[in-house]
Amino acid sequence: MHCDLLFDLDQTLLDFHASERLALKAVMEDADLTFTEERYAFFKQANKALWLGFEKGLISKPGLFEERFRRLFEECGCDTSGIDLLRINSDFIDCMSHNGVLMEGVPEFLGKLEAGLPDARIYIVTNGVERNALGRIRSTGLSAHLDGVFVSETMGTAKPAREYFDQVIETLGDPGECCIVIGDSLTSDMLGARNAGLTSCWFMPRGDIPEEVKKYDINYTAASFDELYDVLKEFYDKLYA
Ligand SMILES: [Mg+2]
Repeated sequence: MHCDLLFDLDQTLLDFHASERLALKAVMEDADLTFTEERYAFFKQANKALWLGFEKGLISKPGLFEERFRRLFEECGCDTSGIDLLRINSDFIDCMSHNGVLMEGVPEFLGKLEAGLPDARIYIVTNGVERNALGRIRSTGLSAHLDGVFVSETMGTAKPAREYFDQVIETLGDPGECCIVIGDSLTSDMLGARNAGLTSCWFMPRGDIPEEVKKYDINYTAASFDELYDVLKEFYDKLYA
């Protein structure tokens, strides 16, 4: 039996937005377009709307990949008829996957975890594109600290589905009581933990915290890596008591 720490990736250990911003700037400059904060905000908004459409089955993934750059380039005044938008999307994902950015304080936090919770195993549970997630993990050196990575794209199921966590637990071979899910998202991480009956810790909580804690049956909250360490140490000590 081990203590299994199941960390969400984006805005928990890695800064997705920092990588995305960097990659968007690079592909726009390659296309002789000027990167501005307004254009970045436009892209994010279009992207978000398209992903919602994808979740509802209104657009395919390649369709989404093409359409988000069509909208951005048209916003910049470009005629997109002769542009290979899927190639631009592929350059964008490549660039992101080589440029992972750790959240501030992660190296110190992981060092503390490995010293204070020596028998714990560290896993990533993430929704998204495998190439992008694994590349960013590798490029930051995070891989050296991990015992495994579970990416929804290759599992055929995603957080918050119970099946996603059932697959994770089956692979780990430990009882669910040994696992704690740590993440910033209520609707994927906290709801997923609740669906699978796992202990949860809401990282960087915001909004009406008591209300959300009740709604999602959250066990712990942590507003910094120091607080998160204390939570995990408590969970670990209880498990091995
Ligand atoms: Mg997240």
